[in-house]
Amino acid sequence: MKGFKSFADNTVLEFEPGVTAVVGPNGSGKSNVVDAVTWVLGAQSTRALRSAKMDDVIFAGTANKAALGRAEVALTLDNSSGRLSIEGAEVTISRTLFRNGDSEYAINGTTCRLLDVQELLSDSGVGRQQHMIIGQGQLDSILNSSSENRRAVIEEAAGVLKHRRRKERAERRLSATQENLERYIEAHRRKAVS
Ligand code: ATP
Repeated sequence: MKGFKSFADNTVLEFEPGVTAVVGPNGSGKSNVVDAVTWVLGAQSTRALRSAKMDDVIFAGTANKAALGRAEVALTLDNSSGRLSIEGAEVTISRTLFRNGDSEYAINGTTCRLLDVQELLSDSGVGRQQHMIIGQGQLDSILNSSSENRRAVIEEAAGVLKHRRRKERAERRLSATQENLERYIEAHRRKAVS
């Protein structure tokens, strides 16, 4: 992260397998770490980033540090399993935003569109609506929601949603084919009768 929210200086965090806990006093920027992950994966809503407008994510300066002109976050994922369909044992996704509103995405340093990032991630279960970032305070609302909603959240987190969507797509295609077939048979039957 560089210039993202409270991270004015270049900051590198390593997430090892397992649980990573970020500890610090209130307002020290713990949630900004989560925001950085949300942002680099393509978040478009300012609400998801706890800010009023998108350029609020750019370091705004403090009493002894000047504001910066751009926010940058790069997320390097271990791809030794080949789960992401791109060559290389590591994949780096990055996002940059300038104060004039210009924004840029890159995969392994090559500029790309947001769509390319979304497509790269979508087959791995990390894509839009397929990964789960549960912020502070959201846990309560999940625990208190209806069992249907809770099921949706759990299925999404467990990666079932991707398969369910595929199944629904396949079912739609099958039923369209079935209708076509019936129309075809009916047309031939009429022809045979006449
Ligand atoms: P809490 O414990 O209340 O959740 P936290 O440790 O998670 O707090 P965050 O809410 O992540 O803290 O961080 C808020 C801090 O980030 C504040 O000090 C705020 O001033 C700072 N901050 C947020 N956006 C920017 C920005 N664009 N430029 C500079 N500082 C920022």
